[in-house]
Amino acid sequence: MYKIQSAKLLKEIMTNYFLGFKDTSKKIAWCTSVGPAELLRSFGFEVHFPENHGALLGATRTAGDLIPESSKLGYSNEICSYLTADIGSFLKKQTPLQEHYGLEGPPKPDLLVYNTNQCREVQDWLTFYAKELNCPIVGITPPRHVNEVTDAHIDDVSEQFKDMIPACEKASGQKFNIDKFRETIKLSKEATDLWKKVLWTATVSPSPISFFDATIHMGPIVVLRGTQIAKDYYEILLKELEENVSNKIGFLPEERSRIYWDGMPIWGKLRPMSDLFLQNNAAVVASTYCNSWVFDAFDPRHPFESSARAYTEIFINRSDEAKEKILAKLVKDFRIDGMIFHDAKTCANNSNSRFGMPQRISKSLGIPTLTIEADLCDLRFYSEGQSITKIETFLEQIESAKTVNR
Ligand code: SF4
Repeated sequence: MYKIQSAKLLKEIMTNYFLGFKDTSKKIAWCTSVGPAELLRSFGFEVHFPENHGALLGATRTAGDLIPESSKLGYSNEICSYLTADIGSFLKKQTPLQEHYGLEGPPKPDLLVYNTNQCREVQDWLTFYAKELNCPIVGITPPRHVNEVTDAHIDDVSEQFKDMIPACEKASGQKFNIDKFRETIKLSKEATDLWKKVLWTATVSPSPISFFDATIHMGPIVVLRGTQIAKDYYEILLKELEENVSNKIGFLPEERSRIYWDGMPIWGKLRPMSDLFLQNNAAVVASTYCNSWVFDAFDPRHPFESSARAYTEIFINRSDEAKEKILAKLVKDFRIDGMIFHDAKTCANNSNSRFGMPQRISKSLGIPTLTIEADLCDLRFYSEGQSITKIETFLEQIESAKTVNR
């Protein structure tokens, strides 16, 4: 069975990342997943990402027990289940971090930092903790759903980055140092370039990495970007995948179809979902979810402006028109036969099927699309049997269309 060997090292890195929170001498910042991690690391903060914890609650299927706790406080079941699971975990004092890493819970923050480039939910989420933990909070509110990112957008967001400096200085006890900021941007840029190359190895058939693998291997680019550790890891992973490409070794020896996955993973069903596609010889090779941590714009010579650009031009923050252009290129580069849109009940922000995009894309690119309804963490919104039937039928149709056209 195909296995990515670097996964052992990945496990070690992620374990060390969590165990690092036992060192209470370090200042801690909480940051949203596409928030200004480089700026925070330049002040020496260790960085915790609540969404990463939310994904862990989803993947370990503990979210289901925790979400009702935040419902009692009035958080709707239909808002972000990362948020409701994470707040539920805080209220119930239960987290897989206890069993896996011997931590009581996420580390106590000295500063909370958000960027609403992905959604307003992150602001509400961290504001809850600001009140509960009596912790300072700062954030960036960039223009949303932009078609093209303009110089005016960059000026606005760069200034917002700069405005966070006094709060970072106060919470970290360190003065801002532009050279340290440049250095973390440089490390992030190197790691993100490697991560992009990792993902782009899947343009080859047979592909050495699937979307499902990538959701695991993206750990360091999410939680450790701006560090040497992340850069080193992606060098090792890329080398392994490139060797597999040279030796024509892929996770599916025979790819009968190549699929793009849109939106969030269904964390609690990652393995069965991966198996379902493998059993149908369908290679899920591309996504915009894993690409969310590809930041082409980082440039250490212009740390504020390039951070502003990198974090404003992300896929989730673009207009449908801009998104469709990005998708058209991915479909071409990855030779996609069909696209599956995950309509995640509790994340409208990362569900692109609600305003006619699948239909428009299907028409303009001439490829079939399928929408499945589920959720990132809340499995009450996922009908497994129905989804499996829909996916299998979709894959069969793609295969027979390919046979007819051969
Ligand atoms: S983008 Fe979606 S899943 Fe992520 S924090 Fe916002 S609402 Fe939650």
